[in-house]
Amino acid sequence: MTDEDVAECPKCGSTSIQAVSVNKSDPLKAFLTADLTGSTAAGIAAGSGSAIRVVCLKCGCQWDPANAEAQRRLKALSGRAGAAAKIRELEAIQEEESEASGNRLRILAVIVVIGLVCLFLVYITNN
Ligand SMILES: [Zn+2]
Repeated sequence: MTDEDVAECPKCGSTSIQAVSVNKSDPLKAFLTADLTGSTAAGIAAGSGSAIRVVCLKCGCQWDPANAEAQRRLKALSGRAGAAAKIRELEAIQEEESEASGNRLRILAVIVVIGLVCLFLVYITNN
């Protein structure tokens, strides 16, 4: 049997873990559904539901048991998979963050261009 077969906390390695049902709400999804259907009740229903989370009774770490990637990442970041894995993971996160900020800049640029086009249209319709 390998380590991977044992249900354990990805952060501290404790096997004192418990599955809990948590209510999750997604305000954005609720808002969008309410907006599209014209029904606040439908929006609230779409934006809420319950999900299974596993909680470590030792360190309080919570994770989604269906998300193997998140568990692998938590384990790597805790340093339990070795120093090299931790460094690799930190580098991967940095890369994702710089990608995300690049996306934000692109979105901002698109908004500025749309704003300028609107100003131009207002200008030519008024003259
Ligand atoms: Zn733990």
